[in-house]
Amino acid sequence: MPPPFRPLAIDAFAEAVATYAWRRPVLRVDMHHTWFPAHADWQGEPSVRAMATYHTRDRGFEDIAQHVTIAPDGLIWTGRDWNKTPASIGCNMNPGAFMFEAVGNFDIGNDELAGAQRDAVIAVIDIVQRRFALPVQALLFHREVPQTIKTCPGTSIEKLDILRAVARRRSTLLSGREGLS
Ligand SMILES: [Zn+2]
Repeated sequence: MPPPFRPLAIDAFAEAVATYAWRRPVLRVDMHHTWFPAHADWQGEPSVRAMATYHTRDRGFEDIAQHVTIAPDGLIWTGRDWNKTPASIGCNMNPGAFMFEAVGNFDIGNDELAGAQRDAVIAVIDIVQRRFALPVQALLFHREVPQTIKTCPGTSIEKLDILRAVARRRSTLLSGREGLS
């Protein structure tokens, strides 16, 4: 999804994932925080463009690193072409990943992942995983690879909390579809 970057609400994101002409298998969702911009720095589209410029001009990436950027207000901004491998974890682990960045610095004492932004994070993980019939556990936090010293996606975010929330969303949706709820 090349520029212009577009903001999607959760329903529009789900529709985009469902109708996208995928040409690669996704095996895993990678979760990062931006660290900068933090919540207080966020300006919407100009912030997405600034990240794209930083990644391409200063870091030498072919495009913005991430497939989507999840804003503090819960909007899901498109980024790198979803058929392209992201600039995610490195360590020969980028192929097969769908990468998102949650805007904020989620290290303890800074921003909090909550409300609409948290809902969008859980939804993005769930929607992408379901499109590729992946289990909830097909989620990687950047800090889980031993080659990095980063705390990404932030020390205030517990992986088990995220996994449980994704599982809860999935079971709620599935039981709703089958008429059990
Ligand atoms: Zn990261």
